[in-house]
Amino acid sequence: MKAEEVKQANHQSNESINLENLSVFERTQQVIKQALGKLGYEDEFYELLKEPLRLLTVRIPVRMDDGSVKIFTGYRAQHNDSVGPTKGGIRFHPNVTEEEVKALSMWMSIKCGITNLPYGGGKGGIQCDPREMSFRELERLSRGYVRAISQIVGPTKDIPAPDVFTNSQIMGWMMDEYSRIREFDSPGFITGKPLVLGGSAGRESSTAKGVTICLREAAEVAGIQIEGARVIIQGFGNAGSFLAKFLHDAGAKIVGISDALGALYDPEGLDIEYLLDRRDSFGTVTNLFPPQLTNKELLVQECDILVPAAIENQITEENAAEIKAKILVEAANGPTTLKATEILTEKGVLIVPDVLASAGGVVVSYFEWVQNNQGYYWSEEEVEEKLEKILTASFHNVYDTSRRLKIDMRLSSYIVGLRRMAEASRWRGWV
Ligand code: NAD
Repeated sequence: MKAEEVKQANHQSNESINLENLSVFERTQQVIKQALGKLGYEDEFYELLKEPLRLLTVRIPVRMDDGSVKIFTGYRAQHNDSVGPTKGGIRFHPNVTEEEVKALSMWMSIKCGITNLPYGGGKGGIQCDPREMSFRELERLSRGYVRAISQIVGPTKDIPAPDVFTNSQIMGWMMDEYSRIREFDSPGFITGKPLVLGGSAGRESSTAKGVTICLREAAEVAGIQIEGARVIIQGFGNAGSFLAKFLHDAGAKIVGISDALGALYDPEGLDIEYLLDRRDSFGTVTNLFPPQLTNKELLVQECDILVPAAIENQITEENAAEIKAKILVEAANGPTTLKATEILTEKGVLIVPDVLASAGGVVVSYFEWVQNNQGYYWSEEEVEEKLEKILTASFHNVYDTSRRLKIDMRLSSYIVGLRRMAEASRWRGWV
């Protein structure tokens, strides 16, 4: 398929819109609109799916260690529960906004649709800076948030999980608080828990495992051998560092990595084992070396495969034309703007979009919930085998749809991800 054909089929309805100025939320709405249009659904479906069905804003009073009381603002968004309960992480970050939480809940819906999980998307967040809070303050905030949202969440309603700056300890406190409120043990209320509280084997590295599977399948269809392939990974946190390890073990040459402070690049391949050993718990390692490259410079260095695994809006109209990679695998949420997607597609770059590439985490979260519900636990091998099957099938479903309809992989993943939700909404008689 020619890049020009994709451009035309893909963006007929984009012509009058300045794609570069859209917020992440507006960007999501834009692709949802295009995907539903391609599927032939009436406008009512877009009206239903363009916003979450429910958004709860809560104010959480927390007694701080110095005796003062601080009031935090939190959110929980539930995009669509026509297929099943909603599911998605809780983010602790000073920049959390209502709009961001809404967009993230919509992405979760698409991820669950692509991977055929019996869920719709949800997401939560609290405006706070966990790096400036003590362990006990974080516990009180986590428990307060659960008390504030307890009416609308639960193992058969909406199942939270970890996200940016939340971890298994926070999931443990939240599960305990919910169990106390309900007066029975409820491990299925939340996923990403410590193993002894009903967590799943393989959960910690599941996002990177999923990225690795999608990257491997993309390389195969693009005719690139993983062994010896030159890879740049932006971000060396949970997703980026596990990914670097898995790809290094598979024989790829990791030529570039970065963190919030800078980037390292070596065309002969970096010493990944040393870097993994020396990184701190926030995913920082470049500070151990003299300044080399900025993050911006790293993205446009020579490589075969580029993986943004850090933050949003890294590949834009400004730098897309300079990207050298043949495959772009989005481990981070929202790293590429729609205008950059157009530019890269025209250049013939194969994009594996975030909603597909980073779906490994929610798939293993689903496995955790299933194990909690049945009270029977699987080995890491069983978890990995099931993840492998789901993500390989999901990749090819999205890829085949993109070839058949002559559209890029982002639009194709939204088409695959939305179809079941739209159908379920119709069968329920909502539209
Ligand atoms: P993390 O906090 O563990 O690591 C983030 C990494 O990005 C760190 O190395 C940090 O130094 C770096 N970073 C921060 N700001 C940066 C900047 N301005 N420029 C360059 N690098 C910067 O986070 P994570 O869990 O690895 O998540 C990374 C991305 O993957 C996020 O977009 C997240 O939403 C997405 N994601 C993660 C998971 C998961 O299970 N961890 C699941 C789905 C999606």
